[in-house]
Formats: sequence, C-alpha cells, structure tokens
Amino acid sequence: MSSTPLSPECTRLPPLTGPEGPRLVFSDLDGSLLDHCRYDWAPAGPWLERLDALGVPVIPVTCKTRSELLPLRHVLGLTQTPFVAENGAVVGLPAAWCHARRERSTGPDGLVIKTFGVDIGLIRQRLAVWRARLGVRFTTMSEMPLAAVIELTGLDEQAACLARLREGSEPLIWEDAPERLTALREGLEGDGLRLVQGGRFWHVTGGADKGHAVAWLVTRFAALRGRRPLTLGLGDGPNDVTLLEAVDQPVVIRGCHGHRVAPDQPALYRTTAAGPAGWVEGLAHWWGDGVGRRVTEGAIMSDFHQNSLITDDNAGEV
Ligand SMILES: [Mg+2]
Repeated sequence: MSSTPLSPECTRLPPLTGPEGPRLVFSDLDGSLLDHCRYDWAPAGPWLERLDALGVPVIPVTCKTRSELLPLRHVLGLTQTPFVAENGAVVGLPAAWCHARRERSTGPDGLVIKTFGVDIGLIRQRLAVWRARLGVRFTTMSEMPLAAVIELTGLDEQAACLARLREGSEPLIWEDAPERLTALREGLEGDGLRLVQGGRFWHVTGGADKGHAVAWLVTRFAALRGRRPLTLGLGDGPNDVTLLEAVDQPVVIRGCHGHRVAPDQPALYRTTAAGPAGWVEGLAHWWGDGVGRRVTEGAIMSDFHQNSLITDDNAGEV
C-alpha cells in the first residue's frame, strides 16, 4: 500500500463505488493500459495511484514476455501484484500470493513462476511442420530479424530483444490468404495448440489463455483470503475475450486495429476512448461515481499472508 501523499490528480477523482469487499483489476497492456503506438500510460496514472492506495491489485494480463514485464512492473508501480505473460502461458506470483505449502521459495527476483503452456520449442517445431505440410506462408517472431520486430512493434532495440525471449507462446505475422488460416488453426488444434489474434500478431499458445490464468488467480486469491473478489477486466483485442469473460465487470477498450472483440457477457462496457484514456473511462464507468467508500478489507496486500485459510478442501491446484 502506498505511503506517499496522493497527487492532486488522484485526489480529484470521484470516490470509488460498488459493493464492499476485496477487488481485483485484470488489465491487458498494449492498446489498453498502454497506448498502442507510444506505450504511454500517463492518463491512467491517477487511477493506478488511487487503486494502489486502496490496496486494489492491478494485475497485468498480456501477450508480452516475462522478460518484458519485469522492468515494466517497476515502472508502473505494480511490483506487489501478480502478472500474466504470453497470453496466459506464464504467471508470476509475488511472495504475498504464494501458497505456504506449494511454493516454498521464490526466485532471485522475489517471484514464483507458474507455467500453464507448453514448451516454446514444441510450438516452433509444430509450426514448422504445419507450414511445410500446408504450404502456407507466415513468419514467426523468432524468425524475424531484430529490425523487423522493432519496426512491427515500435519497441526500442532493448525492449524488442526482451520481446523475443519467449517461454510458452510464439507470435507470427500471417502472410497468406485469410481463409487459409483455418487449416493452420485446425492443424495446431490437433497438436493441442491454439491460434489467437492479438493487436499486431497472431499468437500460438498451448492450452492456456488469458481467461484461464485470470480464473486461476481469482481462485488463488479466494483460497488465500477466504473471500471471492469483485473483478474488473479491461482489454482491446480478440485475445482478451477470455479475460473479459472471466471477470464480473468487463470493459472492451476501443481498439486501433479493427478486429472484432465480442465477449459473451451480459453486462459489458465499451469505451469511446482508446488506450489508457479508454482504460480510465472503463474504471470510471464501473467504479467511478456515487457514494465513495474505502476498501477496508480483503484486498490489502500487507495482510495477505493468510495461508492458514487454505484447507484441504479448497487446496486444489491453484
Ligand atoms: Mg491489447
């Protein structure tokens, strides 16, 4: 929880509304919390500050790699929250989110890493097999020169290098007729792999997706705290659909890519603004007006070490 005084921009926000109890925010990054082109998040700063002060974890759920996320967590002030990388293939847990019996020691960066996907070597091998078998054209990120990754993503050289350190998913640029994607998707499905569309790339993953990782983290939170949290999720791409279907309060942020994003949700808010301005609009829609109240229990990370709440009955693989 933040101990520094709140900024004037933060204190001018309307009070947080909604039911009492713990809350979690699950957020896509590129095109959502981060501007699609400039990777800027300044408009979201006051809301991030407020959620931190209230003890509401903001959990990045992204196609980025773990290597990309680690420095970004520090810049965004999200070092005390978990993260989901590579579209659900990799989950990072800070110590407060670890189970005393299942994750006995953290790594050198203070995190426990869970992997839900399949090995990146297998994904690349199967992609090569299907490309030869089907005669389709695409280029994977691992095959691209670094300059091409920089040009496609707008990342600087260092960040582009980190983007190529894949653990459980492979992005690719499709260079063939759109209708031929179906054959590749079906072939990969036979291997237990998935083809999902992001804002820039198609992504090949194992069985994991963003929604699976979000549900896993909600279950973990409930097991540790003994209460299910109210969850709000934000995303702009087709690869965010499962995330948006896994939360209580979904926000589809207006995209810059033209792809259809239609989660099966009875209550859905679509923003008019894109990127971090849309992120703020979505937060304000669900939690931004009415009678304010502080989150006084449940989501305060400083008292999150209640592993004793886990019983043998709820100690499933979370
Ligand atoms: Mg996105």
